[in-house]
Amino acid sequence: MAKVRCAWFDFTSCEGCQIEMTNFGAPFLQLLDHVEIVEFREVMKETTDEPIDIAFIEGSFSREEDRARLESIRERAGVVIAFGACAATGGINALKNHMDMDDYKKCVYGDDSNMPHLDTQKAMPISAAIKVDMAINGCPMSRDEFVRIVTQVIHGTEKVYVPSYPVCVECKLRETVCRYEEGDHCLGPIALAGCGAPCPADGIPCEACRGMVVDANQESMEKVLQENGGMSEKRAKDKSRMFTANFRSDA
Ligand code: SF4
Ligand code: SF4
Ligand code: SF4
Repeated sequence: MAKVRCAWFDFTSCEGCQIEMTNFGAPFLQLLDHVEIVEFREVMKETTDEPIDIAFIEGSFSREEDRARLESIRERAGVVIAFGACAATGGINALKNHMDMDDYKKCVYGDDSNMPHLDTQKAMPISAAIKVDMAINGCPMSRDEFVRIVTQVIHGTEKVYVPSYPVCVECKLRETVCRYEEGDHCLGPIALAGCGAPCPADGIPCEACRGMVVDANQESMEKVLQENGGMSEKRAKDKSRMFTANFRSDA
């Protein structure tokens, strides 16, 4: 059987999801038995203009001039997968969507903030520019989910399973002591599961890096962050917005 041609492309991102791939170790090497990697900037210099079976797109759509490149990838790819939170939801980049552009450019780039290439639009998921077939969420994307989804795609599965329940469910299944029991905070009640709840298991709060469950009660979550997590109203709002800025109804 011919190997599946896979390529990775990066847009507005820290490229941490690609780097995470390079840390996979054995599962990544096993994958090479089944896939041919034809473009992957973090690990090789070759590129391709040929058709691709699976295109993994990392990063959000935040510059109109990126649209043509996204469309070109879409035309050449059998399956397009949003690779990580930036591509799937806009991710942490979407925080800027709620600020004045001059303010955040000045904050990040200081005296260089007037350089023309720094002008961008809102950070959006790549689905704002092209049709996306599926997403591997998380910041960085979850390696277990990556292996599961890619295996399903290679076997021709059109719909892949992604949980719709919150991270608390996976956390309880691991019998992890709740962060709130430790006097900490956590966004697990509104966070979309699928990662296996590794953060609370490591003793740190869930930050909802995979986005929120449908119909998440953000207001109640922010009250919990204030009343049980000891945060000010502003801090609770900022915290719950960290990875979910494109989801919020009050945005
Ligand atoms: S999802 Fe996170 S790790 Fe991946 S590219 Fe975006 S910011 Fe980096
Ligand atoms: S630690 Fe977080 S994810 Fe786990 S049960 Fe508590 S609130 Fe939910
Ligand atoms: S536990 Fe929360 S922050 Fe950690 S990987 Fe899962 S969704 Fe992301």
